[in-house]
Amino acid sequence: MTHSPLLDQLIQQLRMLPGVGPRSAQRMVFQLLLEPKERVRDLAKTLERMIQEIQHCQRCRTYCESPECKLCQNPTRDESLLCIIETPAEMLSLEQSGVYKGRYFVLHGRLSPLDGIGPEALGIPQLLAQLKHPALQEVILATNPTVEGEATAYYLTDIAHKMGKKVSRIAYGVPVGSELEYIDGQTLTHAVLMRQVLARVEGG
Ligand SMILES: [Zn+2]
Repeated sequence: MTHSPLLDQLIQQLRMLPGVGPRSAQRMVFQLLLEPKERVRDLAKTLERMIQEIQHCQRCRTYCESPECKLCQNPTRDESLLCIIETPAEMLSLEQSGVYKGRYFVLHGRLSPLDGIGPEALGIPQLLAQLKHPALQEVILATNPTVEGEATAYYLTDIAHKMGKKVSRIAYGVPVGSELEYIDGQTLTHAVLMRQVLARVEGG
């Protein structure tokens, strides 16, 4: 507790952020008080703009301040591939890997009937519009390998398959640089079941 209710309130509010405990929230607030007022005001203005302007891209549903995000506006992206993921943060990770050049669709969650998250909340009506795109050939399901993520992938497979699209699922496996001894049994089981053939014998 500081000696100011206002600062205490700000510390409390900053704790909503991931990884921010009471000590680091306190440090942030004291740092903000040391910064030039103009810089802190700019931060407040940007936050206000974020609240006012950030929305879901009409096409892929990632966060952006225009009707369509920059990725959707990029004509060089591969229209034949559509990767469905749970969060914008995962979309960013996949982009940073540089391995994927297709289009995206962000669910902002996964099916979870017990929590009241159904197809509407995941933007399935918008997804259907994307699936109708004539250039689209393959849908890559990149939901997480959790119970809900799997159920969501199962549900989406059905939809995409009925619309005549090839459907694939990202592979589960052993993390690069790890040792088998330390991998949990379920991950190992998936890795063995989803193994890839590297060489075939003739007739085999
Ligand atoms: Zn977009």
